[in-house]
Formats: sequence, structure tokens, C-alpha cells
Amino acid sequence: LAGTWIALAEWAQANGLAVPVKEPGATNLSFVMRGWQDRLVIRAGNHAVRWNGAECWLGYAPRFQAGQLQVHTLDLEKTIRPLLSGPPALDSKVVVIDPGHGGDNPGTRSAAGPYWEKTFTLDWALRVRDLLTAAGWQVVLTRTNDVNVSSSNRVALADQTQASLFVSLHFNSAPQNAAEAGLETYCLTPAGLPSSLTRGFGDDVRRQHRNNGFDDQNLAWAIRLHRALLQHTGLQDRGVRRARFMTVLQGQHRPAVLLEAGYLSHPAEARKIASPAFRQKLAEAVVHALEPGYLDVLGSR
Ligand SMILES: [Zn+2]
Repeated sequence: LAGTWIALAEWAQANGLAVPVKEPGATNLSFVMRGWQDRLVIRAGNHAVRWNGAECWLGYAPRFQAGQLQVHTLDLEKTIRPLLSGPPALDSKVVVIDPGHGGDNPGTRSAAGPYWEKTFTLDWALRVRDLLTAAGWQVVLTRTNDVNVSSSNRVALADQTQASLFVSLHFNSAPQNAAEAGLETYCLTPAGLPSSLTRGFGDDVRRQHRNNGFDDQNLAWAIRLHRALLQHTGLQDRGVRRARFMTVLQGQHRPAVLLEAGYLSHPAEARKIASPAFRQKLAEAVVHALEPGYLDVLGSR
């Protein structure tokens, strides 16, 4: 699991991928790779790559050495390759939507009024359910009212279904920094890589969780959900990131993604989240990401 550094061009050639080219008009530290229908921009010294315009974090920032852009092999296998592999296959049109928090676990408080995260996540989930059901999906919600459900019960419920995907809905908070705003999307950190967020929890890179069996699909769904949410809402792009501590993701036996759709601690963003029209856009974005043909429909790059 240690990995090493190799030249991106060498890896691309060995894997039958188009050789990366310098990004037109940018510095020579910036390279573009193409795969399937995707455009991926990779920059030396930058932890984030851009997939069709949407940001995705690597474990290690690529480096420019001996005239070559070098990328860590675990990032190549666990991030770059899945991002260039096209849309993930669907085993079934069954999805679990998980409204974060509930009951005596209210989540974070809104800076825009006497509102809690748990109320907005449930409303968003109900909107997703209505839209996806109309599009022919079977939608299982982990809760349909204001009750707390443990992480293990949320995972157990998903296990009882034939769901091809688990999507957890949350809103963010940065109590120390009211200026922090934007969209973050999470999936489980692949073994060997450091997490982009640890929130004070341990981050043992050797740890293998059950959901690590779905690393590639986790990322494929995460980036598609993330990009659709950016396009539908105009939220600032804070990237697809990896975390190991999120118990609702660790034990999933299916691809699983957690969305943090804006900061309730940011006054203007909290006002947006309080608006039903905005939550409808969030719901439409989730549907857009799940429906086949989504790339063709969105198109812009
Ligand atoms: Zn939350």
C-alpha cells in the first residue's frame, strides 16, 4: 500500500490512455488528460484535479520533476483511473436516500433563523424521492419523519434493499469561520491514501472498510453528483474529498456518497438553504446525476 511516484505520461502510455498534453495557455505545470468523454486537468503542486470542470482532491499533490509531471501511483489507481473510466454501471434503479440527522440529533443550526440541518435534509430527501419515483426509480429513505436513526441502522436498512447506491444528505458548518461556503462531496478514503478531512479522528491509512470494495464506483458517483449539484445550484466548488471517519459510509456494501450542500453557518448560504426553491434545485441535481445520459444532457465543458 506504500505506492510510489511515476511520470503521468509513462503511466498513461502503459495503460493505453491518451498521453497528457500541456494545458493551452496555462503554465507548463498544468496537463490535460482525456478518457472516455472526460477532460481531466492535473496541476503540479495542486491537491485538486478538475474533472469536466468539477474539483476532485488527490491524496498527494502531483509534482514536477526532471521535466515530467509525476503523480502518486495510489492516486493514479484510485482517482485518475476511475475518473477517466466513464459512467458507472447501474445494477438496479433502487437507491437509498439518507436524510442526515433527525430527532434529538438535529445537526447544525442555521445562521439564518431557528432552523436545524435535520429539517432541511429531510425536505431535500422527500423532494428527491418524488422526482426519482416519477423517473421510475425505487427510492428507500432511511427516515421519513423527525426521528434519529443510528448510523448502523442506516447501513442495515440499505442492506435490506437491492440498492445500487446510497446517498447521504447533509449541510455543512464552520463555527470558527462564517465566511466558509460551498459544496463538498465525500466518499470513503481508499486504503493507502491520506484523507482530505479527518475532523480530529484517527486516519489509519492501512484500514480497509467494507465499503472500500466500491472505491471506483464511490468516486464515479461522487464526482457526478458533485458536478450536477454545482451546475444546478451555483454553489462554490470545494471539491470531491475523501474521509475515513464517516460511519454511515464505512460499512456500506454498495457505492456510497455523502453530500454537504452548503454551509448553514454562512448567513447568505443559510438563507438560500432555507428557500424551498433552492432545495428543489438540490433535488433536481441528484436526479440529474443518477439518470443515464446525464453527461449528454449537460454537455458543457
Ligand atoms: Zn450533517
